[in-house]
Amino acid sequence: MVTIDRARLHRLLKLEEDSFIESHQRSLELTEKAKINMPSGVPMNWMTKWASPYPIFIHKAEGSHLIDVDGHRYVDFCLGDTGAMTGHSPAAAIEAIIDQLRRGITFMCPTEDCIWVGKELSQRFNLPFWQIALSATDANRFAIRIARQITGRKNILVFNWCYHGSVDETLITIENGIPSPRKGNIGPAINPANTTRVIEFNDTDALHKALSPRDIACVLAEPALTNIGIVHPEPSFHDALRTITHETETILIIDETHTICCGPGGYTQAHGLKPDMLTIGKPIASGVPAATYGFNHKVAEMMGKNCAAEDSDTSGVGGTLSGNALSITAMRATLEKILTAEAYKEMIPLAKRFVDGVSSVIKDYKLPWNVTQLGARAEYWFRLEPARNGGEAAAAIDFELDRYMHLFAMNNGILMTPFHNMALMSPSTTEDDIDHHTRIFRKCVENLTGVS
Ligand code: PMP
Repeated sequence: MVTIDRARLHRLLKLEEDSFIESHQRSLELTEKAKINMPSGVPMNWMTKWASPYPIFIHKAEGSHLIDVDGHRYVDFCLGDTGAMTGHSPAAAIEAIIDQLRRGITFMCPTEDCIWVGKELSQRFNLPFWQIALSATDANRFAIRIARQITGRKNILVFNWCYHGSVDETLITIENGIPSPRKGNIGPAINPANTTRVIEFNDTDALHKALSPRDIACVLAEPALTNIGIVHPEPSFHDALRTITHETETILIIDETHTICCGPGGYTQAHGLKPDMLTIGKPIASGVPAATYGFNHKVAEMMGKNCAAEDSDTSGVGGTLSGNALSITAMRATLEKILTAEAYKEMIPLAKRFVDGVSSVIKDYKLPWNVTQLGARAEYWFRLEPARNGGEAAAAIDFELDRYMHLFAMNNGILMTPFHNMALMSPSTTEDDIDHHTRIFRKCVENLTGVS
């Protein structure tokens, strides 16, 4: 097996940084200007995570491509970290959005589209009731609150290295065997270990043990982890998860925000899961801020008993713009015309083509890496076998290697999600886009190993 020469990697990274600066002068200029009023020159701190010395400023997007202010064109495999899984500004959604923009954006009243959206969501995810939020973070926060309210239990359970947005209770990892605030978690009000149990994904025994005291309101889970590489569930894991949560009367919340890449009804529909609640945001409205959470009859009935009309505006669930007309129109257009069953028939084989390309390079160069697919999503990871859980996956993170590979890709017209090695396909991604990535990935590995 090949090992990476660290001194060589360090040198290569420096060369790519120099080359980036030389060819991205306009982005540099704009970064310096933006820094006057925005720390690091970015509107949101995670935009500093790009492997480049400063972020590229975007001029415009076209389908699966981005064009920056220096005139470079990129194949965009990050797609707004799934927010643009529809492809950027898809024509069918834009038409409906513009029409709604002209007819009003937010009203404090429902519009007729919410009937279509509610029905469509219930058919896709097999849950009868739905409410609209603005972000997946909020959908998760609201679902957790509801689970707490109806069970009368304080604690929740999540899986190690999960990500469900900036939800206080979920920013927790196991460090040296001890549940601890996740590194980088800004100003936690309390140690999340006070509200949250955290166990490894795929660990049925630990799940049984954690839920047995019957003091956990809900398990919040992605059906496959996607934020620490892709971690697939083992074949019996979802059955066990459903059985144990049933037995202990724990609400099971499935977060489909990223796993909507598996099909029109996400992993839930593709694998027949039966959660009590389901949350999803990001691409559901083609990038217009929107999210939703669904729930079954039992949850609805228990919620009904708990919330009086006179208190419905101070519930801690929802916000002024939640359920606004624009979000709902954009959701309808996205579900009706863009994230359709036909679109997935194109997107999923593209992810397979990506995996085949990367896999051939890994094999040719005898690299101790693996690449895996989850619907329209693919990801390579720096360990021989796919990880079984978040802890194993996190142990294989190689920050400098990540940076080099991402920056090399950027300098050659490819954007990978800055947080990991994820590539996502949209309805406008093409086979040429994938083959371009395979060529650049091979070139990058050639540089790293010094073998051509
Ligand atoms: N759930 C999952 C599975 C996510 O990956 C994310 C964001 N990466 C969120 C929820 C939160 O989404 P947002 O930041 O749009 O609220």
